[in-house]
Amino acid sequence: MDDDSVVAIRCPNALNRNLCIICQSNRKKNDQLSSIKTSGKETLLLRAEERKALYDCQYSIAISRILNTIKPDDEDCDFVYHRTCYSLFTSKEKIERMKTKVADAKKKTTDEKSKAPPVTRSKT
Ligand SMILES: [Zn+2]
Repeated sequence: MDDDSVVAIRCPNALNRNLCIICQSNRKKNDQLSSIKTSGKETLLLRAEERKALYDCQYSIAISRILNTIKPDDEDCDFVYHRTCYSLFTSKEKIERMKTKVADAKKKTTDEKSKAPPVTRSKT
């Protein structure tokens, strides 16, 4: 079983390449791990960059893992992923929503001073 050690692992470690690159677990029994294609790597990298720029704390570990380990040109660098993780992570809709949120939050902090304290909503 040690034969594989001769083949140098070219990707940085701190990553179990037999586990989903996004969640690093295989507990999702209904979601089989698939190996990632070059185009998939590119998409993941792009989304990771976008999420990083938005300070996405939900995926902060996955983001740095992706940015540090995926090299789109390196074909020897294989990863597996869950389809659900991938679609959640790369969801444009989610990223757009985050962008709006971040923009709103920025607006809020600048508006804060001129704004009256929030009124507690009465139940009707
Ligand atoms: Zn996963």
